[in-house]
Amino acid sequence: MSAATGVGRGADRVAVVGAGPVGLCLALRLARDGVPVVLYEQAEELPTDLRASTFHPPTLEMLDELGLTQDLVAMGERTPTWQIRMHETGEKAEFDLAVLARDTRYPFRLQCEQSNLARLALAALRHEPNAEVRFGTPVSRVWQDDERAWIQLSSGETETVRWVVGCDGARSIVRRSLELPFEGTTYPETIVLVVTTADFRSRFPDWSGVNYIWTRDGNFATLRLPGRWRVSYYPADVSDLARTLAPENIDAFLQSIAPQTSAYPVERVAPYRIHQRVASTYRVGRLLLAGDAAHLNSPTGGMGMNSGVHDAFNLAGKLRRVWAGEDARVLDAYVAERRPVAIEHVVQQSDRNRSRMKERDPERRRVILADLQAIAADPVRCRAFLLKSSMIEGLRRPPA
Ligand SMILES: Cc1cc2nc3c(=O)[nH]c(=O)nc-3n(C[C@H](O)[C@H](O)[C@H](O)COP(=O)(O)OP(=O)(O)OC[C@H]3O[C@@H](n4cnc5c(N)ncnc54)[C@H](O)[C@@H]3O)c2cc1C
Repeated sequence: MSAATGVGRGADRVAVVGAGPVGLCLALRLARDGVPVVLYEQAEELPTDLRASTFHPPTLEMLDELGLTQDLVAMGERTPTWQIRMHETGEKAEFDLAVLARDTRYPFRLQCEQSNLARLALAALRHEPNAEVRFGTPVSRVWQDDERAWIQLSSGETETVRWVVGCDGARSIVRRSLELPFEGTTYPETIVLVVTTADFRSRFPDWSGVNYIWTRDGNFATLRLPGRWRVSYYPADVSDLARTLAPENIDAFLQSIAPQTSAYPVERVAPYRIHQRVASTYRVGRLLLAGDAAHLNSPTGGMGMNSGVHDAFNLAGKLRRVWAGEDARVLDAYVAERRPVAIEHVVQQSDRNRSRMKERDPERRRVILADLQAIAADPVRCRAFLLKSSMIEGLRRPPA
């Protein structure tokens, strides 16, 4: 069914709203498990916005189940170590994920654009006979009764399904249809992502592939992808954003990292506002939330997309059981398992990461760095630290 109001041929399926990494992974997991699925995406084609590039070990394990990890690893940059360092002095703490060798098959971070995951997942989804993908189809409202859920498209058509999962990002229409509180805060800073083909490797041979860096009066991060670096920083003055993002000002920032006579080669620039928020619940009857629709966090540490993919796998497993006839209350376990992880392991952890890098006092920084160096040097403490930052610990909580 695609146009009429009421129950039709397509009514017996799960609707996923949003073809971001979370919606695509959820739809693919469901389709592979024999659950018929329809995916609605407002854009005409897959978005290619920058945002996520860090994949953590458990996410790579999950994506392996979908047959996507090998291709992702081939497209990205394996990053076995990451650092927190001081730019001017070169002092650093370096964390080596080799200590997680017994905890994961993938003891490294993978740096690879989230659009690559979306493309791979979409290509796989298109092969699934019980999956329909509809681009250029914005959803404008959802509602439900005890038996089914309705989706109103912005074209005015109404469609019927059994379950709806809002994977429709920060401004989720599914969450807003439910009028669910999305409490938290918006951070004051704007983060600017710059993609450059500059050869930082030769300028800073002891950088890792991921570096969180303090400068005298600020901080920035550098992430290495194949043939390019992503640099993220927080301009002091964003009152005139167009001016802040003007090529000469982007170049001035890159020159402040490593002066050179020529202008830096810049491929892309994108500013983002950052929020930390968690929806009051992820389920109301037949309507569910996952990914950014359910929780938002600081990007420091690279956890948002990863945790959304973890939501998708958890939820897919439970929807499959309900599809097979189990009581729908099993879906409450999805909320009970994933919402505390978002709060305690993602929002709070990434907020701590952000605060650490926001520290400006030189003495406090020295204390923090010494502590991090001591952790990095002690395999037991280092493993405990990396189990958290690599998002393994949150997944080890007992099932609800
Ligand atoms: C600067 C920055 C850096 C980041 N880096 C990382 C990182 O390294 N690692 C990490 O894990 N996370 C990172 N994140 C977070 C990550 O980008 C998000 O958590 C991730 O994109 C969430 O995926 P999603 O599928 O839930 O939502 P989205 O990627 O936002 O996708 C939502 C989709 O829903 C569609 N949609 C919205 N409304 C509708 C509608 N009404 N009808 C139909 N379709 C709709 C949208 O078009 C979009 O395609 C970063 C974020 C930022 C801002």
